[in-house]
Amino acid sequence: MKLILLGAPGAGKGTQATKIAEKYGIPHISTGDIFRKNIKEGTPVGLKAKSYIDKGQLVPDEVTCELVKGRLAESDCANGFLLDGFPRNVFQAATLDGMTDIDAVINIDVDHEALTERITGRRVCAKCGESYHVSVKKDGKCDKCDGELIQRDDDKVETVKSRLEVYNSSTKPLIAYYEKTGKLKTVDGMQSVQDVFRDIVKALS
Ligand code: AMP
Repeated sequence: MKLILLGAPGAGKGTQATKIAEKYGIPHISTGDIFRKNIKEGTPVGLKAKSYIDKGQLVPDEVTCELVKGRLAESDCANGFLLDGFPRNVFQAATLDGMTDIDAVINIDVDHEALTERITGRRVCAKCGESYHVSVKKDGKCDKCDGELIQRDDDKVETVKSRLEVYNSSTKPLIAYYEKTGKLKTVDGMQSVQDVFRDIVKALS
């Protein structure tokens, strides 16, 4: 199954992506995770991406599309994949159309008033990347690997505003783009993690 996960920053894409990838046995491809790994390792892609990510802007399309093209050509993607955070604008979506045929696009819909609080309260494991919210996770340690929970630099309130603006201007139009293809499945993201996941599985069946 070749899937795309759409949704604003803070909609819960990463959390659901892990569960979807596990259930359907497909690789979870998060362009944000790939960029963060490259930044950590100091690669040329990481150096290019960092200044954009720090400002809450999109990394240029040519860098991002090349990266995704290379990743989709890897053998583990032969039977499908889940794209999380790509495409993020119409140009990237059209480029993806030229690479492969997508089976379904899942859009996680969340009230926009909830997003800033969700993002600024997010803490991620420095070791494995699992994410939590400070309102329910007080001990600062990852349940999965005991790693330290930290706040992503771009989850700080200064950057969140521009990330949400970029979502509204560049990424939101993808809802209409994929609606036209008949492949869009919108689920209510204001429910519990389990209920959102149940609705995604139902939408894909
Ligand atoms: P994410 O982890 O998906 O929230 O992505 C974090 C940051 O990485 C975004 O705010 C962008 O700066 C960059 N990024 C991730 N995916 C893309 C993409 N498809 N196109 C351009 N920039 C991206």
